[in-house]
Amino acid sequence: MKKILVANRGEIAMRVMRSCKEMGISTVAVFSEADRNAPFVKFAGEAVCIGPPASADSYLRMDKLIEVSKNLNVDGIHPGYGFLSENAKFAKLVTDEGMTFIGPRPDAIKTMGDKLAAKETVSHYNIPLVPGTDKAIVNVPEALIAAKEIGFPILVKASAGGGGKGMRTVEKEKDFEEQLTMAMNEAISAFGDGSVFIERYITNPRHIEFQVLADAHGNVVHLFERECSIQRRHQKVIEEAPSVVLTPELRETMGKCACDVARSCNYLGAGTVEFILENNTNFYFLEMNTRLQVEHPVTEMITGIDLVQEQIKIARGEKLSFIQEDIKATGHSLEVRVYAEDPMNNFLPDIGTLEKYIQPTGEGVRVDDGFEEGMAIPIYYDPMISKLITHGATRKEAIERMTKAIDDYKIEGVKTTMPFCKFAINHEAFVSGNFDTHFVPKYFTPQVLEGHDSEEEKMAAIIVGKLIVEYKGENTYAELNSEDSNWKLNRT
Ligand code: ADP
Ligand code: ADP
Ligand code: MG
Repeated sequence: MKKILVANRGEIAMRVMRSCKEMGISTVAVFSEADRNAPFVKFAGEAVCIGPPASADSYLRMDKLIEVSKNLNVDGIHPGYGFLSENAKFAKLVTDEGMTFIGPRPDAIKTMGDKLAAKETVSHYNIPLVPGTDKAIVNVPEALIAAKEIGFPILVKASAGGGGKGMRTVEKEKDFEEQLTMAMNEAISAFGDGSVFIERYITNPRHIEFQVLADAHGNVVHLFERECSIQRRHQKVIEEAPSVVLTPELRETMGKCACDVARSCNYLGAGTVEFILENNTNFYFLEMNTRLQVEHPVTEMITGIDLVQEQIKIARGEKLSFIQEDIKATGHSLEVRVYAEDPMNNFLPDIGTLEKYIQPTGEGVRVDDGFEEGMAIPIYYDPMISKLITHGATRKEAIERMTKAIDDYKIEGVKTTMPFCKFAINHEAFVSGNFDTHFVPKYFTPQVLEGHDSEEEKMAAIIVGKLIVEYKGENTYAELNSEDSNWKLNRT
C-alpha cells in the first residue's frame, strides 16, 4: 500500500496521516470548503476539495471519494470514525473498485451496526447479554408483557441507534405505551428504521469497553479495557485505561468475551466491544463499534501499540506480530475530550474562533488536535477541538499530569469542556474510582465551576455538589429522558 486517502477531517485525519507518514505511505486528504485552511489539509501529501461544507455534500459523498481515489491512484481508504466509517455500502464500494477499505468486511459492519442483529450473532457464543427482548417490537401488548417480566425501569433502544442517540428510559408501566410509540417514531425519523427493543435499565452501571485486533489469518487479541463511564448525553467525555474496578480475573474473562464477539462476526481490523458493568461484577455485551474509536489513544499509551499502524498492516494482509501474552499494559492513561461546548450551559456547542490556542507540553502529555490559533470551529461538524491525553506510572500521576496540562492549555474565543474535565478528574468520586455513568447528573452543576481557582471554594463546591446529589435523589431517570427528548440524527 503506497498511498492512502483519509475520508475524514480534523484530528482523526491528522492522526491517521501521522501513522501513514511513519510507515512511508503517501497521504491524500479530502476536504470541504469549510476546512480549506485546516492543518490536516496542509499536512497531507495531496489534498482535494470535494464540495461545500455540509457533510452530505462533501465527507459523505461516496462517488466523489471514489473518483478522487481513482484519479490519484490511491490504494487504500481509511474512514476514521463517524462519517462513512460504519457504512457497509461504502466499504463494499471501495473493495469493488479494486481498492482496500482499511476496516472490517462489509458483512461485519452491517451485522454489528444493528444492535439486534449483533445480539443474535453473538448469541452462539457464551456472551452475557442485558436481559431484554431479542426481536424488534411489533405488538405493544406483547411488548408490555415482556417489559413486566424484565421489570421496570426499562430502556427502549433503537436497533440502528448510535452516538448516544435513540434511547428512552421508561420508569413506570403506565408510561410504557406512550414512550414506546414515541421511541419508534423517533427511530424512524432519525435512523430510517423504526426497529426498537427493550433492555433492562441497569441503574448504576459503568461503561467498560475492550479494544480488539483481528487479522485475516484467524488471530484475535484484545488490548485490555477502557473505562468510559464519564458521559454526558450518553456520550463519553473522559476515558481511561486501565479501569480501576477490573480484577485480573474479570479482565481476562471480559477480554476473552470481547475476542469471541470479534470471532462471531468474522471480524477484521481494529474494533471495540462495549460492555456495561453492574456492581463491578456482572457484565453484559452492549454493542460492537466496527471502527477506530475516538478514545483509542489511552490504549496506545498503556500498550505502546500504534493502532492505526496495526489497522494498515492488517488491511495489507499481514499477520499480527504479537500474541495475547505479548501484550502488556504499563502505567495509566487518561483522555479528556476538549469540545467547544459550554459546561455552564448544559454542554451546548459554543462555536467561534480560536483567538488564542496554545497546546500544553511535557512528560507524558499528548495532544491529538486539528486546529490552529485563528481558525474558526465550523458549525457543520462535531464540535470536538482536540483530545488531551496523559500517561503516568500510576493513576495519580496521570491525573496530576492531566490537571497541569489542562491549566497549561490556553484556549480563548470559545468555551470548552476543559473546566468540567478538571473538576471531574479531581472530584473525590473520580479519584476514589467510585463512580458510574451518572457522574454528571449526580455531581455536576455549573456552580461547581464558579471560582474554581481557590482551594476553599473548590472544597465548598464539592460539598454543594454532594448536597445536590442528596437532594436530587433518584432523579436520574427523569434526567435521562429530558436529554433524550430532543435526540435527533446528527451524524456529521
Ligand atoms: P466513540 O465510542 O468512538 O467515542 P461516539 O459515540 O463518541 O464514539 O461517536 C463517534 C463519532 O461517531 C461521533 O462523531 C458520533 O457523532 C458518530 N456516530 C456514531 N454512530 C452514530 C449514529 N448512529 N448516529 C449519529 N452519529 C453517530
Ligand atoms: P450507542 O450506540 O449510542 O453508543 P450503547 O448501547 O453503546 O449505544 O449505549 C450508550 C450508553 O448508554 C452506555 O454507555 C450507557 O451509559 C447507556 N446504556 C446503554 N444501555 C444501557 C442499559 N441497559 N442500562 C443502563 N444504561 C445503558
Ligand atoms: Mg456505544
